[in-house]
Amino acid sequence: MRSVDEHLADILFTVRSLAPLEIELEGALGTTLAEEVSSPVPLPPFVNSAMDGYAVRAEDVAEAPVTLPVIDDIAAGDGRPLVVGPGTAMRIMTGAPMPEGADAVIPVEWTDGGTARVAIGRPAPVGHAIRMAGEDVRAGDVVLSSGTLIGPAQLGVLAGVGRRRVLVRPRPRVVVISTGAELAEPGTPLAPGQIWESNSYTLVAAVREAGGDGYRAGIVADDAASFLDQLDAQLLRADVVITSGGVSMGAYEPVKEALSPLGTVRFDRVAMQPGMPQGFGVVGQDHIPIFALPGNPVSSFVSFMLFVRPALRKMQGLPAGPTPTVRAVTVSPLRSPAGRRSYLRAVLTADGSVAPVSRQGSHQLAALASANALIVVPEDVTDVPEGTTVEVIPL
Ligand code: AMP
Ligand code: MG
Repeated sequence: MRSVDEHLADILFTVRSLAPLEIELEGALGTTLAEEVSSPVPLPPFVNSAMDGYAVRAEDVAEAPVTLPVIDDIAAGDGRPLVVGPGTAMRIMTGAPMPEGADAVIPVEWTDGGTARVAIGRPAPVGHAIRMAGEDVRAGDVVLSSGTLIGPAQLGVLAGVGRRRVLVRPRPRVVVISTGAELAEPGTPLAPGQIWESNSYTLVAAVREAGGDGYRAGIVADDAASFLDQLDAQLLRADVVITSGGVSMGAYEPVKEALSPLGTVRFDRVAMQPGMPQGFGVVGQDHIPIFALPGNPVSSFVSFMLFVRPALRKMQGLPAGPTPTVRAVTVSPLRSPAGRRSYLRAVLTADGSVAPVSRQGSHQLAALASANALIVVPEDVTDVPEGTTVEVIPL
């Protein structure tokens, strides 16, 4: 048996970051920036008002209350060159360019809101409620560095510096193929001996949460030739393939039967529970990485968290390593098999305690759905007393 760490190291050694490509901003959410982005202009580009109010000379309102004539109205977007002379005010809106001569904005709340003349109740210092040009970004400043994951705020700053297209590493496209003669599509009736197929739904969802685009390729019966046909068809659109089922020690193991002869996919027993049988390698002329995960629902999901998720991060150009853990204190004793790292389904609470759920079978989907964490018990530990601090993977 090989260790979880060896298996992951092998995967991260094999998987490559996806090549950068230029895309429209609309499609950039969840991609990773592959260039350094700087601003061609200062932001804000011009001095403007931070509030709705009146542009004045601060010295004219120093003795407030005062009343000043209102000589013009400046809306946001008004590009006229305007000048405020001594003893006058202009009504100004948030984001409108400051007129020359004025050095303070009196918020409308401090006035009577007049349009011909305005009564100002309080003085304001020079610079009050004014946004200076370049106070967010100076021209030429780097606003995002290469390798940044693009979220909503990063998209906003890209648009804010005028970018329409951007060079990114795309979201990996991940195709999920389920194998099993016993599998029926949810929504169709179950024949004797059948169960509803669930792994592809879990895995596609997990792919999306990990920043990839997941596609269900449907169900393949336990037949190596049909599996290879489906794999061939799917390779056209995949950056990664995940299969579930068909990798154990029994008969009718189509994934193992089909991929073993290629010589580019290895099948190992990994010292973990659940999820011992694991296949990983590359397929097709483009050497597409393939994860052949075990079929038990809990096993395939845990395998995804431990092996596929870090690989997807590497493909996205993000820092990739073992799935992060937090520490928590057990509220009941735990047991774990010798020589295997176990991942017990558990409920982690905000106070930092963690309790295993009662059913730990690798087929127990509902127990998995009631958990929000995995307790990691090291290979050499078989008994964990209550009150022990353990590593936990939040789900
Ligand atoms: P296998 O790895 O193909 O031997 O499957 C192990 C167990 O997982 C069997 O009980 C299968 O019925 C079950 N299983 C396999 N694939 C799926 C799937 N896609 N959805 C739900 N259960 C599955
Ligand atoms: Mg099977």
